[in-house]
Amino acid sequence: ERAQQALARLVVDVSDFPQKGIVFKDITPLLADADGLAAVVSALADAGRDGGEVVVDKVVGMESRGFILGAPVAVELGTGFVPVRKAGKLPRATHTVAYDLEYGDATLEIHQDAVAPGERVLLIDDVLATGGTLAATRQLVEACGGDVVAVAMLMELTFLPGRGAVGNLPFTVLMTV
Ligand code: 5GP
Repeated sequence: ERAQQALARLVVDVSDFPQKGIVFKDITPLLADADGLAAVVSALADAGRDGGEVVVDKVVGMESRGFILGAPVAVELGTGFVPVRKAGKLPRATHTVAYDLEYGDATLEIHQDAVAPGERVLLIDDVLATGGTLAATRQLVEACGGDVVAVAMLMELTFLPGRGAVGNLPFTVLMTV
C-alpha cells in the first residue's frame, strides 16, 4: 500500500497530451521521488515471485517507461532485462510486430536472441491502455520461443479495453483509473 499511496500522490494528470482529448498520466514525479520509486519497483517485482521464490528468467520492458521500471525490477529479482523497442533502434536481427495505439500506430521489435526458447518472462510497463503494446510484446516474446508468465504495470485505464490483451495471464496492477 506504500506503492498505492505513492501512485495516488505523485502521478499527475495532463490534459490534451500528446493530443487534444487525451488525459495523459505523467509518472515522472513518481520516478523522481526516492521512496515512491522504491515502493513501486518492489511492488512490481513481487509479480515475478511465487511464495517468495523467483519464478521468471527474464524481465521484458516496453519502450520507454518499461525500461525505467523493468531494469530495477530485474535487478531485484536477479534476472536479466530485455528491451522491446520502437522500430529501427535495435542493431541486430529482430522480430517485428506492428499494432494500433490509443493515439496512432507503432511497430515494436525485440532482438531474436534476447529471450531463449522456454524462458519464463515477466512483462513490465507503466500503463495498460488499449492493450496493443502488451499484445504486440507478448507476440515478440513468443516469436523468440519464450513464455510470458506474468504482467505487471503501475496503472490500468479501465475505460479502455486493455484487459482483453491480458487474457488469463497473472496481472499485477497497482492503480486503476
Ligand atoms: P496501449 O498499447 O495499452 O494502448 O498503451 C500503452 C502504452 O502507451 C504504454 O507503453 C504506455 O507507456 C503508453 N501510455 C498510454 N497512455 C498513457 C498515459 O496516460 N500515461 C503514460 N505514462 N503512458 C501511457
